[in-house]
Amino acid sequence: MEILKSLEKELSAYKAQLVAVSKTKPVSAIQELYDAGQRIFGENRVQELVEKENALPKDIQWQMIGRLQTNKVKQIASFIDLIHSVDSERLLLEINKRAKMEDRVIDCLLQFFIAEESTKQGFSFEEAQSLLKSPVYLSLQNIRIKGVMGMATFTSNHDQVRSEFARLRGIFEQLKAEHFPESGHFTEISMGMSGDYALALEEGSTLVRIGSLLFGTRNYH
Ligand SMILES: *Cc1c(COP(=O)(O)O)cnc(C)c1O
Repeated sequence: MEILKSLEKELSAYKAQLVAVSKTKPVSAIQELYDAGQRIFGENRVQELVEKENALPKDIQWQMIGRLQTNKVKQIASFIDLIHSVDSERLLLEINKRAKMEDRVIDCLLQFFIAEESTKQGFSFEEAQSLLKSPVYLSLQNIRIKGVMGMATFTSNHDQVRSEFARLRGIFEQLKAEHFPESGHFTEISMGMSGDYALALEEGSTLVRIGSLLFGTRNYH
């Protein structure tokens, strides 16, 4: 796994971690990366995530990176390591409820809308601000917000992508200063994919989500 080794080396210079995005890829392909030492895998569909979790080693840290429907949270609540894609208060409340039933705390990232494309989802800065101040949020005992996530516009314009990543980093810094000043846990900025991770690292990413570069291009069916 030459590509895994060279990515790990590149990331370690930035103290960033690799989320291997294995969506649509078979268990055998994940096992191969696992055998080469990779432990963090990202998926974007609940059913696929549950099936893979059942089939693969238990020390894999499974992370949810795609849009999560509230009625599916219960299927992943017992094992999910990190949910990158929290985009509403309603979803956060449901995660808290299901985590409580499992007697655990689930780590989450708040997803922000930073791209030009309206197909991408997430909070605005103002929405997140009001959520983090609300008594409802402050009463939640079974979730822990570890940072932020975002996806840049799909464009070859590097200046635009860089400025969107810089904005996400700005949001992270501001939320940290206002809402998590004492917290040692609010540390993560999830940004960067196969096509733009180098820019994301330069702009302060701590978690890059890489699929096609590791596994080859995806065949959707
Ligand atoms: C698919 C996906 C990725 C990985 O995309 P690649 O371009 O294959 O690296 C990263 N983040 C999210 C949210 C995704 O859905």
